[in-house]
Amino acid sequence: MVIVKTPVLIVGGGLAGLTCAVELERRGVEYRLLEAGARLGGRVVSDQVDGFILNRGFQVLLTGYPEIRRLWAMENLRLRRVRSGAVIRRQGKWLTLPDPLRHPGEIWDAWRSPVGTGMDKLRLALLALGSLRNSADNCFVGGSQTTLQYLQRWGFSEGMIETFWRPFLAGLFLDWELSSSADLFRFLLPLFAWGRVALPAGGMQQLPRQLERRLTPGRVVLETRVEKLEGARCWDQSGQLWEADQLVLALDGSSADRLLGRESEVRWAGSCTTYFAAPRSIGGRGRLHLNADGAHSCIQHLICISDFAPEYAPAGQHLISVSSLFARPSEDELRGQLQEWFGAEVGAWRMLRQDFLPQSLPTLAPGMRPRELKIGEGVWRCGDYTAYPSLNAAVASGRLVAESLGYGEPK
Ligand SMILES: Cc1cc2nc3c(=O)[nH]c(=O)nc-3n(C[C@H](O)[C@H](O)[C@H](O)COP(=O)(O)OP(=O)(O)OC[C@H]3O[C@@H](n4cnc5c(N)ncnc54)[C@H](O)[C@@H]3O)c2cc1C
Repeated sequence: MVIVKTPVLIVGGGLAGLTCAVELERRGVEYRLLEAGARLGGRVVSDQVDGFILNRGFQVLLTGYPEIRRLWAMENLRLRRVRSGAVIRRQGKWLTLPDPLRHPGEIWDAWRSPVGTGMDKLRLALLALGSLRNSADNCFVGGSQTTLQYLQRWGFSEGMIETFWRPFLAGLFLDWELSSSADLFRFLLPLFAWGRVALPAGGMQQLPRQLERRLTPGRVVLETRVEKLEGARCWDQSGQLWEADQLVLALDGSSADRLLGRESEVRWAGSCTTYFAAPRSIGGRGRLHLNADGAHSCIQHLICISDFAPEYAPAGQHLISVSSLFARPSEDELRGQLQEWFGAEVGAWRMLRQDFLPQSLPTLAPGMRPRELKIGEGVWRCGDYTAYPSLNAAVASGRLVAESLGYGEPK
C-alpha cells in the first residue's frame, strides 16, 4: 500500500479541525484533513426535513463570540436574533422577564416583573456592568467555585435563582445542578448581557459550510476513520498509513483519548431536542420559554424558532423546538406536558424529529483549566474539551494549534 505523506495531518472535521485547516490555507501550508463522517461540521449539523431546517440539537450562536467574529463575515451568516428576555413557567403560571438592556422601552415592565426582587434586578445590572471586561483569557483560571456558589455569593435571592438562573443556565450548560465552573458563567455573562443570541438563516451548518468553501479541493478526505496512532503516523479503517511532520488531533475529547490509549477524564452533558411543526406560534414573540419547575418535568425549555427565523419553517407553518435535559422523553410524555401548557391546539402539532445527544457538551468542573495543546513531538490536539464547552473554544483551539506549528503569519 502507498504511504500518504503530508506536512500536516488534521484528524477530525468539526469546527476545531476546520479552523486549523483554514489557518493553514492562509499560510500556504499543505495539509490533509481526515474526517470519519460523511460530512464536515462534527456536532454542528443541520438537516432539511419537510421544508423545515432542523439543527442537530438546540444550538445557538452568541454574536459576541470573539473567534466567530474574527473568522466569519457576520453578514454572510444572515443572523436571525432571538428576542431577549424570557417567558418562565413557575408553579403553574407563565411569568415574563423582559430585557431592558435590549429593549429599553420595557424597563418598567422588567422592574415590575415578579421574577426576582428589586435587589435582584439591581444585582443583575451590576453583574452585567462588571462583566464587560471578562474574556476567555481572564475567566478560565481554574476557579474553585461552582456557578451556583457564585450566584449565591453575589446575594441573589433563592426565588431569583430558582425562577430565572437555574432554568436559564441549566439549558445553557445542560446542568440542572449549576455545578459547572463559575469560570464559564463569567465568560458567557457579558456575551448574553451585551451581545445577542442568534441562528444563521440557513441553519447552524452554515458555520462549517462557509469554512469548507475556503479549503483547497482534494485536501479533505471524508469517511476516513483513524483507528491507530504511532507518533505522527496513523492508520485509517482500511489500513491506509498516513505520515505527517505534524499531526493535529481535532477530535471530541473521548475519541482523542481513546486513540491515544488514555483513560479519558472527559465527562459529557447530554440533551434531547424534539422538533414539532405547528400551525400557530406559542406566543412570547420569539422569546425563550423556560420551565422553572424543570426538575420534575420532561421539558426544560422551548422556543418557537420560526418567530425570529422564518426561514426555518415553510410558509404558514411554525417550528417549535422542545429541549429536555434528563433523558429521552416519549412523544406521549411531551404532548402531555405541552397540552397542560398550551391546550388542545397541541393536538395539531406534528413531531418532526427527536435528537437525543448524550455527548453534547464536555463538562467544565470547578478547578479545571485549559489543557496543553502540544501532547508529544509533532503531535497536537484541539477541540472544545481542551478549554471550555463552546463553539468559541473549538475555533480558538484550532487557530492556536495552527499558529503554533511554526509556519509563521498568514500571507
Ligand atoms: C445539542 C448541542 C447543543 C450545543 N449548544 C451550543 C451552543 O448553544 N453554543 C455553543 O457555543 N456550543 C454549543 N454546542 C457545542 C458545540 O457544538 C461544540 O463545542 C463544537 O461543535 C465542538 O467542535 P469540535 O471541533 O471541538 O468537536 P466535534 O464537533 O465533536 O468534531 C470532532 C470531529 O472528529 C470526527 N472524528 C471523531 N473520531 C474520529 C476518528 N477516529 N477519525 C476521524 N475523525 C473522527 C467526528 O466525526 C467529528 O466530525 C452544542 C453542542 C450540542 C451537541
